[in-house]
Amino acid sequence: MSEITNETVTAIDTTLRDVERALERLRAGNYRSCQVCQSPIADDDLIANPLLANCPAHPELA
Ligand SMILES: [Zn+2]
Repeated sequence: MSEITNETVTAIDTTLRDVERALERLRAGNYRSCQVCQSPIADDDLIANPLLANCPAHPELA
């Protein structure tokens, strides 16, 4: 069994927050909208990454 590092815990924590934010967007009804410019996110992009929160123009905030 490999050791669990702080980096592993941080990665899990970050993923958990991304999931929670995606669920909040689903409940709020803006899951498919960029969080910056409100433009629709492509279905293909959401299939590739269901936690995607931004359009391709604003990837740094995803
Ligand atoms: Zn955008």
